[in-house]
Amino acid sequence: MSRFVDRVVLHLASGDGGRGCTSVHREKFKPLGGPDGGNGGDGGSVVLEVDPQVHTLLDFHFRPHAKAGRGGQGEGSNRSGARGEDLVLGVPDGTVVFDEDGTMLADLTGAGTRFVAAKGGKGGLGNAALVSRARKAPGFALLGEPGEEKDLVLELKSVADVGLVGYPSAGKSSLISVLSAAKPKIADYPFTTLVPNLGVVTAGNDTFTIADVPGLIPGASEGRGLGLDFLRHIERCAVLAHVVDCASLESDRDPISDVEALENELASYTSAIAEDTGLGDLAARPRVVVLNKIDIPEGREMAEMVREHFAERGWPVYEISAIAHLGLDELRFGLYKMVREFRQSQPAPEPARTVIRPKAQGGPEFRITKDPDHAGAFVVLGEKPERWINQTDFENDEAVGFLGDRLARLGVEDALLAAGAVEGTDVTIGEVTFEWEPSTPAGVDLRRTGRGTDVRLEGSERVGAAERKYQKYVRRGLIDPDEEPTE
Ligand code: GDP
Ligand code: MG
Repeated sequence: MSRFVDRVVLHLASGDGGRGCTSVHREKFKPLGGPDGGNGGDGGSVVLEVDPQVHTLLDFHFRPHAKAGRGGQGEGSNRSGARGEDLVLGVPDGTVVFDEDGTMLADLTGAGTRFVAAKGGKGGLGNAALVSRARKAPGFALLGEPGEEKDLVLELKSVADVGLVGYPSAGKSSLISVLSAAKPKIADYPFTTLVPNLGVVTAGNDTFTIADVPGLIPGASEGRGLGLDFLRHIERCAVLAHVVDCASLESDRDPISDVEALENELASYTSAIAEDTGLGDLAARPRVVVLNKIDIPEGREMAEMVREHFAERGWPVYEISAIAHLGLDELRFGLYKMVREFRQSQPAPEPARTVIRPKAQGGPEFRITKDPDHAGAFVVLGEKPERWINQTDFENDEAVGFLGDRLARLGVEDALLAAGAVEGTDVTIGEVTFEWEPSTPAGVDLRRTGRGTDVRLEGSERVGAAERKYQKYVRRGLIDPDEEPTE
């Protein structure tokens, strides 16, 4: 199966936050000083940044896994843990980022533009930071939040600085494989290449990309080829290089008519599609002619015969052998010079900006639904409650109590009661399911309004204050009205 090199799935993991520290200050004559456990460091993020030196996604193709550093643990004497190191991945200008479902997250244009692809987990507060009036000496700290693990898709619409066009078997794939690290499949029959093979070519310290462009064969513009797809692939090529088989055994073929046929094809594509796509300037794109297979004596002779013809059209001509590695350095530096001129003629990139992921705005901070897998049980959804669960050390009763207080303050407890939860009901938040023990939260205790009694003893009927409260939660979107709280 062929792979689109200009589309890559990245497996990203940001760093976990470090856990906060539980510590009590000790001095010789002051055995019980204040809590002094420091905070955990935040985990590092994975960041994509447009780097003008990067022209391909090829690196990611070979190395699709990326992980940022974890945050350090907090320590005693109020020492915070170290921040996890961000991992900044350079991407080409024009890279588009999608999530796994195909939703576009960012369109990265302009050098320096950044996108936080996976955000590091927050470090947990140490016990010193958890001191409050009610809790003077917390015997617990918060866990660091886990980093994100996710797959993102990167796409680069335009893949190549140099597009190789030429008849099947002219040697395009061979040429890419000898000029670059990419090793496309090589075969001796037409239509091998249905997607472009991409290679990165180095010329001294510089690099450019080269693609074996499929679909350009005589008649292609009449529908036999790949049409618009094909044009998209060469849309931003700085140079089109004709690769010509100088040793073809077919009697009706020769370099001059081969190139002519493909030029006609390009022209008909351009006139057919240019108006819709704005790609009309292809005809003006610089050309070079690469006369291949001069390792074969007939090939060399043929190359010498036709060289002048192309030179007279003003096109640089290179005589090479992809197989015998003849003339390759001249070709690579010659191509790079043209690529550089093209790049310099392009408009300057837009100023850098940071792309912020769209986030749901407004709306309630949590929502309660019935657990679809488990009758009578509830699920609490919401960023805050889910984060708080991750921060909780369930081994530590005080930490669990702190979680309970936070949930109560946010209104989760009230809402659970209103939805029909009772003591012992299974409640799932994030990854954790627990048997719910209602504390008596600040404000109205729903159980005393008759609500709780009603649910426990008489089933689903709601009365008076409880019903009003229930309706209020439905209006605020905290309880899903379609999900009847009791069977
Ligand atoms: P493509 O269809 O244009 O990608 O052509 P390929 O790179 O697949 O090459 C087609 C055939 O020509 C293969 O059998 C190659 O081994 C052969 N070939 C490519 N370059 C050369 C060359 O420089 N000299 C010789 N003798 N054969 C070559
Ligand atoms: Mg090929």
